[in-house]
Amino acid sequence: MKIRVGLGFDVHRLVPGRELWLGGVKVPHTLGLLGHSDADVLIHALCDALLGAAGLRDIGYYFPDSDAAFKDIRSTILLERTLSLLKERGWSVGNADIVVMAQKPKLLPYIPQMRANLARLMEVEEADVCVKATTTEQLGFTGREEGIAAQAAVLICRN
Ligand code: MG
Repeated sequence: MKIRVGLGFDVHRLVPGRELWLGGVKVPHTLGLLGHSDADVLIHALCDALLGAAGLRDIGYYFPDSDAAFKDIRSTILLERTLSLLKERGWSVGNADIVVMAQKPKLLPYIPQMRANLARLMEVEEADVCVKATTTEQLGFTGREEGIAAQAAVLICRN
């Protein structure tokens, strides 16, 4: 069996007048993430980790923000398409570990739903998908609530 690890990182800017989507969950907040898609930074980091593990290109290559087809698209759909790219090549997901860096809002109540969403899409158990949230102690752009960052590590395998 061949196993591969992958790493993904993403940042989106927080602005008024946008919905906040993280891990396929709409999180109530006064600000939302700006982007061509729904700007689900957590899923974007996860997609990049999956693509990297499979030796493919990055999310911007497959789903460019210059393409109107991806305007306001749900990032869960981008994740489904990413997983199809992996499946076509015989890869399945082992586990994923994700960190979201946000000063606000408190994400703890929404994490079980994020894990359930991601586990269903990746066809793994919820225990195989960890989502952790941290503040950055009011430091940097995340600490100043200018944006949210996310980092993902995944393991994929192929027989
Ligand atoms: Mg992004």
